[in-house]
Amino acid sequence: MKNYFIIILTVIIMTSITVEIKSQQYQKRSDIPEKYKWNLKDFFESNYEWQESRKEIEDGLPKLKMYKGKLGESSETLYNALANYTDLRKKYYKLLVYAYRLGDEDLNISENQELVQQTSSLGTQFSEASSYITPELLAIDPEIIEKYINEKAELNEYKFFIESSQRLREHTLSDAEESLLATAGMLRSNNSSVYNIFDNAEKPNSSVTLSNGEQVTVDAAGFSRWRGSSNREDRKNVMEANFESYEKFKNTFGANLAGKLKTDWFFAKTRKYNSTLESSLDGNNIPISVYENLITQVNKNLPALHRFLDLKKKMLGVDTLHYFDLYAPLVENVELNYTVDEGQNLLLEVFKPLGEEYVNTVKKSFDNRWIDYYPTPGKRSGAYSHGAAYDIHPVILMNWTDDYNSVSTLAHELGHTMHSYFSNTNQPFVNAGYATFVAEIASTINENFLNDYMVENAKTEKEKLFLLGSYLDLLRATIFRQTSFAEFELEIHKKIENNEPLTGQILSDIYYNIVKKYYGHDNGACVVDDYIQYEWAYIPHFLNYTYYVFQYSTSLIYATGISEKIKAEGQPAIDNYYKILKGGGSDYPVNLVKKAGIDPLGSEAFDITIKRMNDVMDQIEEILAKK
Ligand SMILES: [Zn+2]
Repeated sequence: MKNYFIIILTVIIMTSITVEIKSQQYQKRSDIPEKYKWNLKDFFESNYEWQESRKEIEDGLPKLKMYKGKLGESSETLYNALANYTDLRKKYYKLLVYAYRLGDEDLNISENQELVQQTSSLGTQFSEASSYITPELLAIDPEIIEKYINEKAELNEYKFFIESSQRLREHTLSDAEESLLATAGMLRSNNSSVYNIFDNAEKPNSSVTLSNGEQVTVDAAGFSRWRGSSNREDRKNVMEANFESYEKFKNTFGANLAGKLKTDWFFAKTRKYNSTLESSLDGNNIPISVYENLITQVNKNLPALHRFLDLKKKMLGVDTLHYFDLYAPLVENVELNYTVDEGQNLLLEVFKPLGEEYVNTVKKSFDNRWIDYYPTPGKRSGAYSHGAAYDIHPVILMNWTDDYNSVSTLAHELGHTMHSYFSNTNQPFVNAGYATFVAEIASTINENFLNDYMVENAKTEKEKLFLLGSYLDLLRATIFRQTSFAEFELEIHKKIENNEPLTGQILSDIYYNIVKKYYGHDNGACVVDDYIQYEWAYIPHFLNYTYYVFQYSTSLIYATGISEKIKAEGQPAIDNYYKILKGGGSDYPVNLVKKAGIDPLGSEAFDITIKRMNDVMDQIEEILAKK
């Protein structure tokens, strides 16, 4: 339960895409036809009704506290306490979804932002009132828990919740030590704060003169814009300038990152873990072998990346491919246009291989106003799905701009929404929230099916090349690049755990060796120029997360394994897939993936993904050969 809130927030962060608004179809929210706006009346009829519910929750907090110190007393008390707690939490999520969604419609309406603030302060009160639950559950003897569950059948609903709290027993310390660790927790964000302030605001940026004579500053926005320039000299200069600006501060960045790694190790070691990796994965009970298997399998498949780099070299028409060529467009962008209605109809066709139940539920989300489509002044940018309102329905925020990106973003968010909907309708509330490890599977499966459909139905060879090329770029950036990051993280944590020195230069050496290996620097696949060694300092994830990015790779690989099986086997594979969709958080995420027919410790999903990658490259080569 404690993780539930974090999970939802992560889902939002991970899927926020800044969409450039090309045409502002509507200036006022009131001009938009109702069917293109989400219906928040499904949650509360009015703000007045919302306030009533808020008061009810607030009034319930003293009762929540009443069970403090009593959870282990009897099966009856344990059940009543947990039922009361989850019921209040369920109501709180409904409150939260309404307030935040209403706030996102127009961030300038202060009356609605007040509801957001009220929600947030109620959340703090709620956390305080319920903070005793996990530690108290943990302290009850497992045999007594078993006895209580046998005594009171209703407790079965909470069995997995109790078990997953109790699992952390051996890593929980005495009260005094826990209180010390809780206080020390405020030190954990120091290094990421320093990084974010320095990187975003105070670090001087280089400037570059582009081929058109324009002088530009290579800040974050400039870098992501010009690194993909179709002018080779421009993208070379921009990349060089960007990473050289990090080189100047490599010692500062290095000391700061080493500080973060030491903090992680302090907490892991204090909690009696053998490594930071073990400690980070234990929250979701993911064995470290899952992480190690990802690295092994991706390394084994580096020849597929090298084939892609070779293809890129040919398509760009260069003698030697350099790292600064990686973001150059493989093929010219093709403009594809869709209205909301066209996008909806397209997706209903696209999802047909997933079966009737899936398509009907997607249709339900279109027909019953779960989605807010159009951008208007003041509306939150990007896109997200939010599925925490257990007994209502998930909602999606979009900023639709009539292009292909809008369609693929909607496909992605619908994956999250279907996952939430099926989990909420098949699991008790306490087991409905799902872990990050499985959160991006449904969204990626939807994108895979969209890509297949678009390629099959492409109107021109140019369009087909564009779609196939974008898919390969996605695999490069998600599977290979993120796994290289995962490998880097593992190596630098080990340095700290073995008491070895870690400076800016050592970090750069480690990073450079990994990148050279991945991109085949020594076998001529891609030249990784000297200044690329400082790229690690540019990646905020190393400071802001711990062992997180590997899940981008595993999600895409498992999702591809599942979608290819669905295409090959049909219904039996769909039935397996529903074990994730309807499973919510009823089991540990690795077990859910296994139930869906994918072994996170095996090589099958990796082989399937690489086969698909090679098939796509075959198709591209076939088209190119005709030209
Ligand atoms: Zn997502």
